[in-house]
Amino acid sequence: MYDQKAYEWGMNKCIIREIAEYGNAQKAIVGEENVYDFTIGNPSMPTPAEVDQTIRDILSDTPSLAIHSYTSAAGDYSARKAIAEDLNHRFSAGVRPEDLMLTCGAAPALTAILGGLAVENSEVILIAPFFTEYVPYVEGVGARVKIVGPDLPDFQIPMAQLEEAITERTVAVLVNSPNNPSGVVYTKETLEKLAALLTEKGKQFGHPIYIVADEPYRELVYGGAEATFIPNVYPNTIVCYSYSKSLSLPGERLGYVYVPSQAADSREIYAAISGAARAKGHICAPSLWQRVISRCAHLRPDLESYDKNRSLLYESLKAMGYEMPKPEGAFYLFIKAPGGDALAFAQRAMEENLLLVPGDDFGCPGYLRVCYCVKYETIERSLPIFKQLIENRA
Ligand code: PLP
Repeated sequence: MYDQKAYEWGMNKCIIREIAEYGNAQKAIVGEENVYDFTIGNPSMPTPAEVDQTIRDILSDTPSLAIHSYTSAAGDYSARKAIAEDLNHRFSAGVRPEDLMLTCGAAPALTAILGGLAVENSEVILIAPFFTEYVPYVEGVGARVKIVGPDLPDFQIPMAQLEEAITERTVAVLVNSPNNPSGVVYTKETLEKLAALLTEKGKQFGHPIYIVADEPYRELVYGGAEATFIPNVYPNTIVCYSYSKSLSLPGERLGYVYVPSQAADSREIYAAISGAARAKGHICAPSLWQRVISRCAHLRPDLESYDKNRSLLYESLKAMGYEMPKPEGAFYLFIKAPGGDALAFAQRAMEENLLLVPGDDFGCPGYLRVCYCVKYETIERSLPIFKQLIENRA
């Protein structure tokens, strides 16, 4: 006997990883430089040198038993204090260390938040396009997924559709800005409208409807765009963050949950999230990395290489006739499939060793995600293939 749903998630692997694995096999055959792999969001910007130096410092100034010991489940107090100070410095947010729980990245932070919020028959609303893994995360805590969007052509939030989708069973709307896969940053105006809608609906149904703000790309914004810190617009926001993208540490697994003290039922929600994490086997986030962050929470990524990649790809594809929302954040472009069929287009691109992810699993058929955390030369060398593909569209 086994769980049928879990079996399906195990068998139907994440499409991004499937195509990336195909790419790795192809690289072994035709050479790495001849595969244009735009699939996986593995940061290409080096981890800041200060992070590496901090590890060396910790190894030399801290007894090894202390470095490698368990911390409290919520995380080392000095790391939470450093994160709180940094958030308060940037967003005047009133964050306290006790409002934070350190996790092994954004993914377990999300499953803990969803697990803490979901009651029987709960619904969680996703706004298309969305990170593919949200579906198993929501269903895995026993809640039902409801999808709204996309809001074409700007890929903001389709308010009227969202309003219709909210019911008395809605516990949360999952918001991801800057967005994977669209690269769009939700404007402050969009978020204020969302806040007004959720406030009204919360009153109507007699319980808060939380925003779960998944913000691993918070610092990855370009050309003067700003990612609004959502708790400042809507207090019933529970934040999920990760250092995977901002400090290029995806394999190290460090992130956090932030439950604002001004959120409704804040302490109870915090306890429920901690309990949901515990039930999924959370013990503590990696202790060395907690120590690193206690000294590095103020660091910001150097965005120059991503911004150069973004400009080259966006300007070139636009000039060729590709359509896409303006990419202002994260490291993704979301192009409309020439000819309309994203799966067929991805297949034709694959034959040329150009690897793109069709938008279907992001809740957005007819689009393709292009992940530009790659070498600049990879983009340069891929452009003739993009051109040929749009010229010979089906
Ligand atoms: N949320 C979004 C939108 C992501 O793109 C990712 C990873 O790509 C995650 C969450 C998971 O991040 P982490 O590596 O911190 O678990």
